[in-house]
Parts: sequence; structure tokens; C-alpha cells
Amino acid sequence: MFERRPLIAGNWKMNLSIKDAVALIDGIAAGINDIEGVDVLVAPPFTTIASIRKAIGNSKIFLAAQNMHNEMSGAFTGEVSGRMIQEAGCTHVILGHSERRALFHETSQVIDLKVKAAAVLGLIPIVCIGETLEERESGKTFDVIRQQLDESLMNFIVDQLMLPSTILAYEPVWAIGTGKTATPDQAQEVHGFIRNWIEKTFKTGTANQVRILYGGSVKADNIAELMAKPDIDGALVGGASLKAESFVPIIRF
Ligand code: PEP
Repeated sequence: MFERRPLIAGNWKMNLSIKDAVALIDGIAAGINDIEGVDVLVAPPFTTIASIRKAIGNSKIFLAAQNMHNEMSGAFTGEVSGRMIQEAGCTHVILGHSERRALFHETSQVIDLKVKAAAVLGLIPIVCIGETLEERESGKTFDVIRQQLDESLMNFIVDQLMLPSTILAYEPVWAIGTGKTATPDQAQEVHGFIRNWIEKTFKTGTANQVRILYGGSVKADNIAELMAKPDIDGALVGGASLKAESFVPIIRF
């Protein structure tokens, strides 16, 4: 049996000045220094990463970027490579967030290239997938999730290897920033489906090790019931990760 350590990750999106971001990380670090058994990660905006890395110091908080380009360097104005975010101190990178897919037209094919580049560099990808409300209401949730997995992890499938450190995040689009959380049963149903897909697609044991996070309006008052589900290994938190007062109680669930 493998133990999957719970992971609570905060996605700060395009928020916070350097000063406010450092104050937030200080507040988070102070609020969790007496707890063990849970991994904590933050994904700040690019401009604050170096300051956050310094502020984290020796406290055990993992640092992620919110996106990266799949090429290592070159003429890609406005982009940042995996090597650059790694140099800035990131160990993880969020890929394929629904906002990237919807607002910046990122396809699963592009996300797959980014996942491969991250893996080559030794950056741990947090790969996001999730259905829209329309897709859920028309009964297409599992088809959409299967297709996103098949396409966003195509290179892993071709290599027949999914690194067990890979993290997946199920984020129903209709639950992100809307205050509507999937019920624990709805979330578990999809998490179970994803784990089953990993089990069928990769070598034995992988599915038991890969962590699957739930994201979508996670708060202090719903985290415990979500975490009680067997296939929910943590949370990717947006809005509630922007204040230590709301993020720390989630971590301390
Ligand atoms: C997110 O953006 O990944 C997210 C889950 O946001 P929120 O917690 O605000 O719904």
C-alpha cells in the first residue's frame, strides 16, 4: 500500500503585490509551523516568485508557477520557460488550468507538450482537467474527462510511463470561483474515474501513488468532507488561498 500525503495548494492567480504576497506567505508559514502530515504549496504570480522563494526560507512550503512554455528558450515574447521558473525556485508547475484553456485557448495538445517539458526538467506538473456546466448537464462529464486525460497526457501514454509524482487536479469549471462546490460524492465519482483511468493506462501501482486534487470553491467549511473521500488527496484552492485567515484553516483541516 502506498501512502498519498495530502496536498493543499493555493493558486494566487493574477493577484497580490510583492509586499502583500510576502506578507501572505509569512502568515501561512506562521499558521502551519506546528503541523505535520500535509504538504503545502503556493503558486504565486511570476513577478513575486523570487521574493516568495526567499520568504519561504526553510519552512516546508512548495513553490509552483501557474504556467510555463513548452520550449526551453527562444523567440517567444511574453513567455517563461520551465527552466526559468525552476531557476527562480519552483519545484512544481500548474498546467492546463481551465482559465488557461478557456481564456488563452490552450489546447490539451499544447498542455501535453508542457507536461512533457516539465517532466524532462524534473518539474512536477499539476495537470488540471474538468468539465463545464453544459458538459455536465448533457451527461458528458466522463467523456470530457477521459478525452482531456488522453490528450493532455499523450506523451506519458506513448512512453507508457506516468511519473508517480505527477499531480492531477479535477476542477469542474462550474465550481471555480462561483461558490458552487461539487458535493463530496460528485467529486469522488470523478476522482474514482480518474484513478481507474490511470490504473488501466499505466503500469500497476501508478494509480495508487498519483495524487488527485479537487478544486472549485474549496473553503474551510467543506474541506474536511471532501478529504474524507478515498480518492481525494488534496485541494487546489483559488480565492480562499489569498488570505492566511482562510487558507490556513483549510490546510489544518
Ligand atoms: C482555481 O482557480 O483553481 C480554483 C479552484 O478557484 P476557487 O477556489 O476560487 O474556486
